[in-house]
Amino acid sequence: TVSRLAAFQGTIFAEMSELARVHDAVNLGQGFPDWDGPARMLEIAREQIAAGNNQYPPGRGFAELRHAVAHDRHSRGAGTFDPDEEVLVTVGATEAIAAGVLGLVEPGSEVILLDPYYDSYAAAVALAGARRVSVPLARDGHRFGVDLDALRRAITPATAMLVVNSPHNPTGTVFTYAELRGIAELAVEHDILVLADEVYEHLTFGPPHIPIGTLPGMRERTVSVSSAAKTFNVTGWKTGWALAPKPLLDAVLTAKQFLTYVGAGPFQPAVAHALRHEQAWVARLRDSLRGKRDRLSAALEAMGLTPAASDGTYFVCADVRGIGADDAVEFCRRLPTERGVAAIPVPVFSDHPQQWRTTVRFAFSKQDAVLDEGVRRLSLR
Ligand code: PMP
Ligand code: GLN
Repeated sequence: TVSRLAAFQGTIFAEMSELARVHDAVNLGQGFPDWDGPARMLEIAREQIAAGNNQYPPGRGFAELRHAVAHDRHSRGAGTFDPDEEVLVTVGATEAIAAGVLGLVEPGSEVILLDPYYDSYAAAVALAGARRVSVPLARDGHRFGVDLDALRRAITPATAMLVVNSPHNPTGTVFTYAELRGIAELAVEHDILVLADEVYEHLTFGPPHIPIGTLPGMRERTVSVSSAAKTFNVTGWKTGWALAPKPLLDAVLTAKQFLTYVGAGPFQPAVAHALRHEQAWVARLRDSLRGKRDRLSAALEAMGLTPAASDGTYFVCADVRGIGADDAVEFCRRLPTERGVAAIPVPVFSDHPQQWRTTVRFAFSKQDAVLDEGVRRLSLR
C-alpha cells in the first residue's frame, strides 16, 4: 500500500460485519436496514433490466433521475438546482464525497472534519494529498454539538474545505440552525468550500434537517451530497448524487468521470420514481426508525449504558463503562464471540480517540425482533 493510504487498511464496517457473519452475531454494527424499500421502486429496476436498459448511462446520469433529484430538493425548500448543469449522479454518496474532495482540494491544503467522522472523508482527503484537520464535537449533556470556537481556531489560510455531516454519523446529532449558521458564517468569512453530506436528510425524529447550502452566502460554496441508500432502504444500489453550482459541479464531474465514469443504469429510473412518488413510504420509514431509536435507547438505558440523544440517522451511541468495559475497541472486538452481537467502536472514527474511548455505536435500522434479540444477548450476564 502506498504511504498516503497506509493508515486506511480494512474498514471497520467490513471487519465487524465479517465477525458478525462468522459468529452468527446480531449485527448492530454496519448501518444498513434489514428490510426492503418501496415495492414499485424495486419492480421498476427489474423492468428496466428486462427492457434493455443495460448499457452506459450518460456521464451525468439519466436526465430522469437528475430532474427528480432537483424537483425533490426544490419542493421541500432544500435549494433550487438546474438538473442539467447542477446535479450529478454518482456511485453512492461515497463517490460524490471522493470526487468532491479530489476535484476541489489542492494537494497540501487543509480539510476540516468534525470529529468523530464517517471514515471515507479521511481516506478521500488522503487520496487527494490534502491534510485533514479534525475538530471534536463537544458533549453538552446527552447531545454532541458543534464547538464553534474550536472550529474557528482550526481555520488557517490553507483551509480549503469543511465537511459538514448532518444528521451526523455516528452520533445521531442533527445540527441546529444556530450551529449551521455559525459554520456558514465562518465559511463565508474565510472563503471555505463546504461539502454537506446529507445521506440521512430524511431520517430525523424531532428537530428538522436544515440543508446548510440554503443558508446565506452558502449556495455558491456548497457541494451537497445525498443518496438513495438510506432514504429508500437500498444501500446495495450505490446510487447517489452531488448538487452544486456549475463551477463546483464541473470540478466534481472531472474527478468522477475517471473514478467510475458512470454508475449502474437500471437503478436510476427506479430511484427517480421513488423521489417523486414514495414520500408516504419515506414518512413511514422515518416513523418506524423513531420507534426503533426509542426501543434500543430504552433497552441500553435499562442496561446502564447511558445512550446519548439521537435525533436522526440509524445510530445511537452508548457508554460501555456502564457494563464494566473501559475500551470500546476491545469491547467491540470481543462482543461477537462473547455475546453474539456486533457494534462499532466510535474511537475508530476519531483523531481524538481518548475522548471517545468508551463510546460504542449501535445501529437500530433492524427489524424489532432482531433489535430485541440483540438486547437480550447484551443483557445476559
Ligand atoms: N456518508 C455517511 C455519513 C454514511 O453513513 C454513509 C454510509 N451509508 C455514506 C456517506 C455512504 O453512502 P453510500 O452508500 O450512498 O455511498
Ligand atoms: N454507512 C454505514 C455505516 O456507517 C456503512 C457504510 C460502509 O459499510 N462503508 O455503518
